[in-house]
Amino acid sequence: MRTIKLSSHMMAAITMTLSFASLGGTDRTESAEDKFSYPNNARYAISLSFDDARNSQVDVGIPILDKYDVKGTFYVNPKFVDERLDGWKKAAKNGHELGNHTSSHLCTGNFAWLRKDNLGLEQVDLAWLRRDIEMTTTYMREKLDVEPRSFAYPCGNTFVGRGKEVKSYVPLIAELFKTGRTWLDETGNNPTYTDFAQLAGNRMDGMSFAEIKDMLDMLKENNKWIILAGHEVGEKGMYTTDKRALEALIIYLKDPKNGYWLATVDEIATYIEKHR
Ligand SMILES: [Zn+2]
Repeated sequence: MRTIKLSSHMMAAITMTLSFASLGGTDRTESAEDKFSYPNNARYAISLSFDDARNSQVDVGIPILDKYDVKGTFYVNPKFVDERLDGWKKAAKNGHELGNHTSSHLCTGNFAWLRKDNLGLEQVDLAWLRRDIEMTTTYMREKLDVEPRSFAYPCGNTFVGRGKEVKSYVPLIAELFKTGRTWLDETGNNPTYTDFAQLAGNRMDGMSFAEIKDMLDMLKENNKWIILAGHEVGEKGMYTTDKRALEALIIYLKDPKNGYWLATVDEIATYIEKHR
């Protein structure tokens, strides 16, 4: 008879397999995510965010939010803020959150029309990007009296450089801000797990209320924090959040029976940080 000797490596593999198997069984204990709860026993959290400081956010979007006393998070570029400076000052004073969205709005140079001086993210370094981001923070302090705590990555891109020289700029955002939000993600944020420097963001542009609700139903499992992101506000379009969908969504999210806590990115991040 042969005895089978198991190496410590094999033993570890078997132990891991057994513990994964027990996670999948019906006796699976509730995970920390499943137990996480938000203020007023809400089961899910949600933030409404808008990028670029487009004029229609001041003209159409903020009046809808204000009508229902809802606070949004707006990631701004100085050149757009300048076009509605008084409107943005008023929004900040009324409790809407203003975050940083860089000065150049530099994305991958594959968006030829978004290149600056013919440069894309593939051609700049971290020092270039830091200056660009700090220019917006300085502008926000001086013109809006706001110290931004949140950041959104233009186009959701988080890198500089090419190939072997690529560097992530996520650590820079972690150094300068409390949170950074990406774009076009396929999940929400697990409150006990998510990285504040790369918060997932989900599209709300171009969708009807029914489509947004279907998406929320899919994303909300495990007490997720969902951050919706839009650009223009008005008539539904590729980069426009439909104003009727937005209003219907706010009414739905404010109804306590639907289980959502609706607040700004910074407010929810602060709460999660304290309670996880
Ligand atoms: Zn943008």
